[in-house]
Amino acid sequence: LCEVAASSSRPDNAALSTQYDLIVIGGGSGGVRAARLSSLYGARVALVEESRLGGTCVNRGCVPKKLFAFASRFDSLFEIAADYGWTVEASFDWPTLVANKDAEIARLEAAYESALLDAGVEVFRDHATLADRDTVGLRDAGTRLSAGRILIATGGHPVRPDIEGADLAITSDDAFGLAALPASILVVGGGYVAAEFASIFNGLGVKTSISYRRDRILRGFDNDLREGLSEAMRAAGIDILVNSQPRRLTRANEGIHVEFEHGPAATYGAVMFATGRAPNTRDLGLEAVGVVCNARAAVEVDEWSRSSVDSVFAVGDVTARSALTPVAIREGAAFAETEFNGVATAVDHRIIPTAIFSEPEVGSVGLSEEDAVMHHLEFEVYMARFRPMIATLSDRQERTMFKLIAQADSGRVLGVHVLGRDAAEIVQLAAIPVTMGATKADFDRTMAVHPTASEELVTLSKPAYRVVQGERV
Ligand SMILES: Cc1cc2nc3c(=O)[nH]c(=O)nc-3n(C[C@H](O)[C@H](O)[C@H](O)COP(=O)(O)OP(=O)(O)OC[C@H]3O[C@@H](n4cnc5c(N)ncnc54)[C@H](O)[C@@H]3O)c2cc1C
Repeated sequence: LCEVAASSSRPDNAALSTQYDLIVIGGGSGGVRAARLSSLYGARVALVEESRLGGTCVNRGCVPKKLFAFASRFDSLFEIAADYGWTVEASFDWPTLVANKDAEIARLEAAYESALLDAGVEVFRDHATLADRDTVGLRDAGTRLSAGRILIATGGHPVRPDIEGADLAITSDDAFGLAALPASILVVGGGYVAAEFASIFNGLGVKTSISYRRDRILRGFDNDLREGLSEAMRAAGIDILVNSQPRRLTRANEGIHVEFEHGPAATYGAVMFATGRAPNTRDLGLEAVGVVCNARAAVEVDEWSRSSVDSVFAVGDVTARSALTPVAIREGAAFAETEFNGVATAVDHRIIPTAIFSEPEVGSVGLSEEDAVMHHLEFEVYMARFRPMIATLSDRQERTMFKLIAQADSGRVLGVHVLGRDAAEIVQLAAIPVTMGATKADFDRTMAVHPTASEELVTLSKPAYRVVQGERV
């Protein structure tokens, strides 16, 4: 069921204003792409955004997160710099980083707005609600817009665990605007947002701990990546508490006192919940018009992003298919192609490369070893673990890992997993041959670029092991 808020307002008596071909609710990654393309294909388009254009990715996600990740990595570079002959006197100023990040986001938001306006989209700054299957109400303006098609692209929001004192903690939304860095922080969660923020805080000098309720962080990723990242994060000074779950948070003199389900209590300067996100289906009037949501309160859609009501579509995080910006953008573009350009286009969600901008970085495309076992495949695993060249002049203990999984009979590369510097950049490129269905032989006949880390991908000569019926042989 879609979440229904008690305050859900349906502006039944509001004046009906303009007729559009498409109304997009939400000006984030998916909504902006769908609105712009549809308008360029000749549709009359309105887009309603209640907060800032650009949505989560630009304002509270990918972009500020990556800027913070850059900031957090200078310290380790300074460490190496000395062995390259440099003397660096370093100090860090958090307000400068936040102010510069805010200026960049303002620039991006303005760029999003002009891209929409240039494409002919009418932008409304308001909270939108479905009044019926072809009408949207604007809460603040008190008007209604109608259209042949309505696209829900409202994204998602962070969720907090239902424990006493949960309100004392911050979420990723708040982390981007902290007035000052705490001396210490407990990041609760084991997904990519938790890993990234733990690395960011740690790199910026905050004493950082992670509390995760399972036995290993990054569920769903290849186990070697999960192990490798855990080890590297611990070596960098992050305290990772596994099988750990906070039970109660209380305010303490110097921060927040955390009692855990198991293990001793501790006090931290701040606590951040990175415990997952939920789709924004609340207060949209979805149920009233018959839009069906699934068990995760996400809008249920078919391969054309059409909901159970044929005039209502949904793309991006609100559908919980894969909560990533490029996926939302593809879904928005495919919707526009299908509905306003006459080219039926469905998004292929099978191979989605992903990265974690932790320290070190993680990049991953295709099947993990565990996935391949689950699919009853027979495959070979190629591994390379080495010290990256940049660290060789210093005593910095840093490791890079490349893992390639190839199907035994066809040789098709099923997965590539990288841990180390530039892993995200490397995997973006590896995703092309993997998506094309390249074989290990294709990788082997590719000339290496030397000296690089990623030449390992084309020089992996012998499998570390073969997996037959789930067993390593
Ligand atoms: C901390 C963090 C880091 C991330 N890092 C990455 C990353 O590195 N790479 C990556 O690919 N993805 C990343 N993501 C995920 C990415 O941000 C989302 O997948 C993407 O933004 C989803 O786009 P969307 O269009 O579905 O929704 P959003 O971008 O969330 O946009 C939805 C918009 O709808 C508006 N809205 C909601 N309800 C209404 C309403 N009723 N009326 C009007 N407007 C409304 C909201 O204000 C919002 O602007 C990250 C997310 C987070 C939280």
